[in-house]
Amino acid sequence: MSAIPFKDVIRTVRYLRPYRGLAAGSALLTVLSSLAALLTPWPLKIVVDHVLERQPPSGAVAGMIGSFAGDRVGMLVAAVVGGLVVALLLSSLHVLSNYANTKLDQFITLDFRSELFLQAQRMSLAFHDRRRSGMIIYMINSQGDAPAGLIMTLPLLAESLLTLVGMFWISVHMDWSLALASLAVVPFLYYSVGYYATRIQDRLQQVRALESESLSVIHESLSMMRVIVAFGREEHEYRRFRTQTSNAVAARVRVTVRQTLFALVVNMITAMGSSAVLGLGAYHVMQGRLTVGQMLVVIAYIAAIYKPLEMISYTIGSLQDRFINLRSTFELLDLKPDIQDAPGARVIRRALGHVVYEGIQFSYSGRSDTLRDISFEARAGQVIGIVGPTGAGKSTLVSLLPRFYDPVGGRILLDGADTVGLTLQSLRQQVSIVLQEPLLFSGTIAENIRYGRLDAGKEEIVAAAKAANAHDFIMALPDQYSTVLGERGAAISGGERQRLSVARAFLKNAPVLILDEPTSSVDSKTEAVILDALERLMAGRTTFMIAHRLSTLHHADRILVLNHGRLVEQGSQSELIRLGGLYHQLHEAQWARSRRGTRGVGALETLETLETLETAETPA
Ligand code: ATP
Repeated sequence: MSAIPFKDVIRTVRYLRPYRGLAAGSALLTVLSSLAALLTPWPLKIVVDHVLERQPPSGAVAGMIGSFAGDRVGMLVAAVVGGLVVALLLSSLHVLSNYANTKLDQFITLDFRSELFLQAQRMSLAFHDRRRSGMIIYMINSQGDAPAGLIMTLPLLAESLLTLVGMFWISVHMDWSLALASLAVVPFLYYSVGYYATRIQDRLQQVRALESESLSVIHESLSMMRVIVAFGREEHEYRRFRTQTSNAVAARVRVTVRQTLFALVVNMITAMGSSAVLGLGAYHVMQGRLTVGQMLVVIAYIAAIYKPLEMISYTIGSLQDRFINLRSTFELLDLKPDIQDAPGARVIRRALGHVVYEGIQFSYSGRSDTLRDISFEARAGQVIGIVGPTGAGKSTLVSLLPRFYDPVGGRILLDGADTVGLTLQSLRQQVSIVLQEPLLFSGTIAENIRYGRLDAGKEEIVAAAKAANAHDFIMALPDQYSTVLGERGAAISGGERQRLSVARAFLKNAPVLILDEPTSSVDSKTEAVILDALERLMAGRTTFMIAHRLSTLHHADRILVLNHGRLVEQGSQSELIRLGGLYHQLHEAQWARSRRGTRGVGALETLETLETLETAETPA
């Protein structure tokens, strides 16, 4: 049984700590149940030996029913009532221990799942870029009960072991050779469990991987519902799910067959033991070494000894499943978040918003030179426009400020302090972000706005919505602020969602604001409404605004022009136009298009312009 990972088991037992009292109660109930189980076959012995065979009671039995000696009917009644009392006692103990164990099981599972959930949230975005969320959901949901499952097998094992010792001890006193014969099966059981444990582990791991993959397919499909419907790929997704899940099911069936075969082997071994004991026991009765009643007690005990033995074997068999779940969940818990507070990190109160990038270098894993040697300064309250061709690194540049990723070279200063030396919590409190795709939670509109500051009152939520030009459309909805949004904010338009995310940013009231193309996916009328709200939001905050439409940058104090991860130009709009470089060409191209009588320069056209210009540029 070398397949027992003792380190993981010891680590698991630590989850019991907060529930010591309950665990002690459960242990006591286990001992009492084992003792009560010892009494079970004795009423039968009394009926057979002393009522039917008229043998005078002796030893412990005399103590139990001595006052009825000679009165066979009295003894019969005592045995029957005694049997009932034992059954009642066992059932009551069973109910109590079920209650204690269920409580333990559920609370430990809750604690462990919470820990996994917290850890998954602590991990950096780089980690989540690599892992499929379906796998993490599977881990939290399906594997999160592993420690509790393992701990709850302990009372079972302990009860089985105690019963085994108690019954074996009494059997030895009645007929030692019979008791020894019953133990002849133990080496076989031990060997078969060891064999099983080592052979089944890899297969179980494969099944787990396949099952979690199925969950990933479901998760991905549900979150991509709009694309699936738009491309009419329901059948395709169904087949993908079906194929994946069929593989998982086939693998699960194969493992279950093996587990059942193992159960069959264990049953056969114990059946051989029972037959041997029956034969030898009856032979000893024939020789007069044992009474019939004693033989019945021993046989009942042997059967009861095998039950715990079988239980131990099955439990150890099923433990492999739990060990595998434990290992993979502990592996997640042991991962060090690659972005975390540095030792001695300090809390920053509300910052002024002076931001400096110094020689920033960054690459996503597996990529090179996403950002190269970028330096610039944004004084408190300035608006910094960021432009550049698609893939130039604009979003990446701003995502380094709240430390979604850490640069590999250079540093970022906020009010003169290196952001790496600040606590993540306090750093991220200084930054509000409005993204191109407004991400909202399912829940009411009020709850979504309140996400900006959880303790905000109703008036503050309404004020934020008014500032974000969202109040009027919210009041026109049947349930107004209590309107329940679907997943990702479904149930309202893209422009409306964006205004809610602006309201959320208003409420957060952070000194630094990141706007990542917040109006690129709305029409020009909605854009005007959102820009109006954003202008209010930007007042008094250091703002980084990524824009494809240069017209939205007219009030930027400075514009950074990125190309191939490099900062190729920076200056005010007029300076950049005078410079005659990339920004100038871009500006000219957009201007020419708008003069050709188009309805303004859309994101797509700007993008095309940028891409055309980009191919003309040689990367530095
Ligand atoms: P766009 O204007 O299209 O939004 P961008 O200028 O904001 O583009 P980024 O999103 O910063 O560009 O991407 C910069 C580069 O990094 C691109 O080459 C992109 O493919 C790559 N990239 C972006 N996100 C990741 C990621 N999570 N993992 C690996 N590479 C990434």
